Amino acid sequence: MNRFLYKRQVYLDNNATTRVSKSVRRVVMRVLKYNWGNPSSGYYMGKRAARIIERARQQVADSINAHSHEIYFTGCASESNNAALITLSNHFYPKKKKIISTPIEHPSIMNTLEFLQTQGVVVQYCPVDRYGFISIKELETLIDEETFLICCMFANNEIGTIQNIKEVSAFAKSQNVLVLSDCVQALGKVPVDVKDLGVDYATFSAHKLYGPKGVGALYAKISSPLEPFIHGGHQEEGMRAGTESVHNIAGFGVACKDVKNLIAYSEKTRLLKEQFIKQLKVIKPDILINSPTDNCLPNTVSITFPNINSKELMMMLDYNGIAVSSGSACSSQLNKPSHVLKAIGLSDKEATETLRISFGKETSERDIRYTIKVIDNYLALIK
Ligand code: PLP
Repeated sequence: MNRFLYKRQVYLDNNATTRVSKSVRRVVMRVLKYNWGNPSSGYYMGKRAARIIERARQQVADSINAHSHEIYFTGCASESNNAALITLSNHFYPKKKKIISTPIEHPSIMNTLEFLQTQGVVVQYCPVDRYGFISIKELETLIDEETFLICCMFANNEIGTIQNIKEVSAFAKSQNVLVLSDCVQALGKVPVDVKDLGVDYATFSAHKLYGPKGVGALYAKISSPLEPFIHGGHQEEGMRAGTESVHNIAGFGVACKDVKNLIAYSEKTRLLKEQFIKQLKVIKPDILINSPTDNCLPNTVSITFPNINSKELMMMLDYNGIAVSSGSACSSQLNKPSHVLKAIGLSDKEATETLRISFGKETSERDIRYTIKVIDNYLALIK
């Protein structure tokens, strides 16, 4: 079926990925066309490519208040998360054995932690409340002299919960423990200032903020331990060997230049989200909102539709040109209830009745009205 026959195309899955912005597209194309030299080559073409990388590194660093020496480019945030967890475990184990994390992390953290457990690392999960918040009191009961790392995401990709990372870091410092925070969903939606947050490591992905796919970053605070995670050449200070994806890195830099504007715009997104929830409650008063009202990503809402299968609802929306997700993009194909929804206390049934809607900078009021109308028609049909 030709999808472009639909009356409207409405993209409400911006936490899965975002449309590459015009300015990013332009720089990526330009680098592909004119700056295809190897950044490690000693002649002019290579040096020019290397300069493009260093400019982008500065742009990424500026967007999170870091020093450019603290930014390592990777192939994606999943790689950044793997790299941080595995190299830190190699560094500390067996002297120190324990990582404390949360049960609502992205699969690139959860599955890496599972792997590390097979290598002898002890992992404990700090429970979360109904809206996904951890508490320092719980962290206090878990931390001990064996602990070398607290791994806690800044903003959750499924329900939007924003953790108090500043408080987590202050507590970790008092215990001489490092902090890794997955900031993938936060960058471009809320201010991310790694110095203010006090984290030692943070991870990012370009394609969540209108940049290209295939490039991520790892922030590692100066003087915090880090070991090579891809062995080979000298690239990325010897930490990540391999010829750099210069065009993608340049695109990431340009995407980060726009972070302030994106954050300014997110107030509009928050209002759209409120409007959407309000209108949805009129046509389906028994919905459950799993996202917190405060300390939540402005663009994200997780909604449970009692007695409506979310896969069917998603397919119906897709048929009408509307893209949403039933959980994170990484786990929505697994046919398993989302670990995030389970961790906040939803039953298996409720978890399979839940949709994630994530608005973006291109979402309009008309998109909202159209989506509500399509859902309303469907509810009338299945009544
Ligand atoms: N962390 C979070 C919170 C995410 O939402 C995602 C992507 O969905 C990732 C990590 C992985 O990002 P990437 O697609 O760059 O591997």
